[in-house]
Amino acid sequence: MDRDAQMKRQINVIGHPLVQHKLTLMRRRETSTTSFRALLAEISMLLAYEVTRDMQVTMEEIETPLMAMKSPVLEGKKIVLISILRAGNGLLDGMLRILPSARVGHVGLYRNHETLEAVEYFFKVPSEMEDRDAIVLDPMLATGNSAVAAVERIKKVNPRSVKFVCLLAAPEGIATFHERHPDVPVYTAAVDQRLNDKGYILPGLGDAGDRLFGTK
Ligand code: URA
Repeated sequence: MDRDAQMKRQINVIGHPLVQHKLTLMRRRETSTTSFRALLAEISMLLAYEVTRDMQVTMEEIETPLMAMKSPVLEGKKIVLISILRAGNGLLDGMLRILPSARVGHVGLYRNHETLEAVEYFFKVPSEMEDRDAIVLDPMLATGNSAVAAVERIKKVNPRSVKFVCLLAAPEGIATFHERHPDVPVYTAAVDQRLNDKGYILPGLGDAGDRLFGTK
């Protein structure tokens, strides 16, 4: 498989009508902080469903009220959700509803507004990462710089696998991300047109953190 085909395989656009409808509501300028937050939690449940599609199960002997049977159960409690602060936290609640036993980590990065480069200020993840599958969360894959830096840092603690989940991605961000991390699949609800000169996704939904926390 050539490199382009390999990269395309690593982008999973979740075209489910429920996801697309909720995303349209989130994009609207007039959507309130309360609704934006609720919609992001709802979409993240649906994204959790997709990103865990290939989770391993083992067969366990159980008894129904009528007879014994072998039935599938998830293998261990090995998922760690890693939020890229602060907007990544908006994806946590919904994901944790679907994955209540997942552990949670946080990576704090700020964007230098002149260079658009990511600078780390916080990093906390559970122990024994080598036994865990990391799902990295950030609603916006824009320039890709913070996603690249966060995943680079996370890889240093040797998780068993890494996936990246966002709500919106720009083509530029996908290219930058997969240039550095071709092994990390990206799950997104949409790939938008492009970035503007301030690094915002167009048409996008504005600043996800501000809309989520009402800080504008
Ligand atoms: N971060 C955001 O919150 N929005 C964008 O469009 C780009 C980066």
